[in-house]
Amino acid sequence: MDTSPIIRKTAADLRLAPNFADYEGERRRFSWASVGRELAAQPGGALNIAWQAVDRHATGALRDKTAFRFLARGKPPRDVGFGELARLSSRFANVLAGLGVARGERVFVLAGRIPELYVAVLGGLRHGAVVSPLFSAFGPEPIATRVNLGAGRVLVTTDMLYERKVAKWRDKMPTLEHVLLVAEDGGSSNIPGTLDLAALMAAASDESTVAATGAEDMSLLHFTSGTTGTPKGAVHVHGAVATHWATGRYALDLHADDIYWCTADPGWVTGTSYGIIAPLLHGVSSIIDAEEFDAERWYGLLQDEGVTVWYTAPTAIRMLMKAGAEIPRKHRFPRLRFIASVGEPLNPEAVRWGKEVLGLPIHDNWWQTETGGIMIANTPAFDIKPGSMGRPLPGIDAAIMHRDADGTVTPVEEAGIEGELALKRGWPSMFRAYLNNEERYRKCFAGPNNEWYLTGDLAQRDADGYYWFVGRADDVIKSAGHLIGPFEVESALMEHPAVAEAGVIGKPDPVVGEMVKAFVSLKKGYEASEALRLELLGHARKRLGAAVAPKEIAFLASLPRTRSGKIMRRLLKARELGLPEGDTSTLESGS
Ligand code: ATP
Ligand code: MG
Repeated sequence: MDTSPIIRKTAADLRLAPNFADYEGERRRFSWASVGRELAAQPGGALNIAWQAVDRHATGALRDKTAFRFLARGKPPRDVGFGELARLSSRFANVLAGLGVARGERVFVLAGRIPELYVAVLGGLRHGAVVSPLFSAFGPEPIATRVNLGAGRVLVTTDMLYERKVAKWRDKMPTLEHVLLVAEDGGSSNIPGTLDLAALMAAASDESTVAATGAEDMSLLHFTSGTTGTPKGAVHVHGAVATHWATGRYALDLHADDIYWCTADPGWVTGTSYGIIAPLLHGVSSIIDAEEFDAERWYGLLQDEGVTVWYTAPTAIRMLMKAGAEIPRKHRFPRLRFIASVGEPLNPEAVRWGKEVLGLPIHDNWWQTETGGIMIANTPAFDIKPGSMGRPLPGIDAAIMHRDADGTVTPVEEAGIEGELALKRGWPSMFRAYLNNEERYRKCFAGPNNEWYLTGDLAQRDADGYYWFVGRADDVIKSAGHLIGPFEVESALMEHPAVAEAGVIGKPDPVVGEMVKAFVSLKKGYEASEALRLELLGHARKRLGAAVAPKEIAFLASLPRTRSGKIMRRLLKARELGLPEGDTSTLESGS
């Protein structure tokens, strides 16, 4: 566990009264049934994510309020209000109806962060179809694999993506019947075997009935990031909306007048649960930027758009840190009031960097594709222990598990013990299956009545109930009888001013079992050298002790990562050992 000083919150840190200020009390009072009552009652007793997110606002006071402001380089911003979003998604639902798409059938979306993607996701949900947003940078094979696994009947994409990535593979996707294209030049497309989405939308009616889905009906199919192996298809249901609502309130502290920016792409669960659904549920305006990461642009957006709540990822924060302190000095962020991060452990160095550069600490939170929503979080009103992912939110029971030799798991009562992080079933956004992989799903649950979901991550809990990420079960290093979490070693290396990023693996060693090896990339202005390597080895030894410190350090220009920004330690290891790289469908190109 890190020993960084605690960041104490005072009233001065809170520009608005936080939604969540009484940890124990709120957890005690909370019930998922009460969230059900907070959500508006959909006519006919149905529960549909799109209705909760859009339709119920569309005819009321928020009709003309901006839901999404779409930004792209060289184009004027396009503001879409709640009323317009309802009409557009209704049209899209009618387009699906016109094609004969039935409830429960799969609609895949492959596009950059353009308005049509958001309309297709919401319209698909509204129609009762199952929506699977794919990351637009995927190559042809990962696209085909996912469409086939999900038995996609409809694909919404752009003319350019279609020609580059789908056309030649079309006959390898036998279930795919309709391809709807957005013309990237804003006109119309006429590629044989496809339909022009703009024309279909123009011909469709503005009005449609929202599908009377129930809480257990399938809503979204999300693929995991593929950090530890072949991506899995996690099945989610409409009832998940209760978690999106509750976590938008507790973990993101959304308030009516916020300008919110979630930097994740909807191709990953964060970009859908928190890039689309949660802000809409709370009637909050979001900005959506079509461009890729660019430090200058990002600081500019935070300032010029007046972002108040920012949800991003450690990889982005590390890239901002790497870009240096000059650019942020040219900007001001007076409206920003809350920053959260998810996806990977957030090094204490990054938490403090936020306070220095943006004036606010960064609040780490933890969840997975499988959990559908934020489970453990640092929130505005509570002290931050840098390096900790925070505490379980209301409605979430977490535990650290001890596993017997015979495989039986039991929750560990004492603090400070490392074990597998588990969550008690019962939160609404829990995945309901790994598509076509029943066996794997079953193995995720243990305990009496299979009441515990085992996350595959190792963590520990301290005496104050804060959880500390140790590593993925697959990444943990066993060296001379110690269990070493890569995160601890990576965080210590990141404290050195030259280090931008670190990835740590266990390398088989005849004496100690596994030897700790670190790969680092350097910040701007630093050069790799033997002297720096020795300095980093010395720094780590001083900070971590000889048993835990890396014995070898290698420099890399950048670390291999998934397109969602996670360091792929399994790839560092495979490359080090000359082994096959395995599934690299989510690997960011050039890494
Ligand atoms: P795959 O399951 O295909 O290997 P993945 O686990 O990276 O990929 P996601 O569901 O996108 O796919 O990521 C969830 C995982 O990301 C968590 O299980 C955890 O290992 C890591 N993670 C997410 N947030 C945090 C955090 N705040 N601190 C530490 N780790 C985190
Ligand atoms: Mg996973």
